[in-house]
Amino acid sequence: MPAGLTLSIIKPDGVAQGNVGDILKILESNEFQIRASKMLHLTEKQAAGFYQVHRSKSFFKDLIRYMSSGPIVVLVLQGTNAVNRLRDLMGATDPQKAEKNTIRKLFATSIEKNVIHGSDSEENAVTEIHYFFSDLELLV
Ligand code: ATP
Ligand code: MG
Repeated sequence: MPAGLTLSIIKPDGVAQGNVGDILKILESNEFQIRASKMLHLTEKQAAGFYQVHRSKSFFKDLIRYMSSGPIVVLVLQGTNAVNRLRDLMGATDPQKAEKNTIRKLFATSIEKNVIHGSDSEENAVTEIHYFFSDLELLV
C-alpha cells in the first residue's frame, strides 16, 4: 500500500444534511485526491465491527445506532501527511471545540453527530481501508 493514504467517512448526518458536495470540495481544495469511494448503509453489526476499539465506551451503543442510521460515503484519500492533515481539517471531535473553518465546525451538530471520520494513525488507516475496499477497488 503506498504512503499518504487515509480512510474517511462522511457520516449519516453529513449525507442527510446534504454536505457531501461541500465536504468533497473542501477535501479536494486541500490537496487530497480521492482514490476510492462508495456509498453504503451499514448494518449495526458492520458499524460495530468498524468501531470495535470503542466497544467498552459508554457511547458505543449510540454510536453504532447513529452510524447505521442512514447512508454514508466512504473515501480513500491520498495526500502528503494524509492522516494528520485530514484530522486537522476535520477539527475536534466535539464541534464546539473545533477550530474555525474545520469541517466539523462548519457542519457538525454535536459530539456524536460530527459528520466525518478520519483514521487516527497510518496503521489504522491500512486496517480501515481494508475493512471497506478490496485491493481491486483501490486506484493506487
Ligand atoms: P472518528 O473516529 O469518527 O474520526 P474521533 O477520532 O474524533 O472520531 P473518537 O474518540 O474516535 O473521535 O470517537 C468516535 C466517534 O464516536 C466520534 O466521532 C463521535 O461520533 C462518537 N463519540 C465520541 N465521543 C463521544 C461522546 N462523548 N459522546 C457521544 N459520542 C461520542
Ligand atoms: Mg477516532
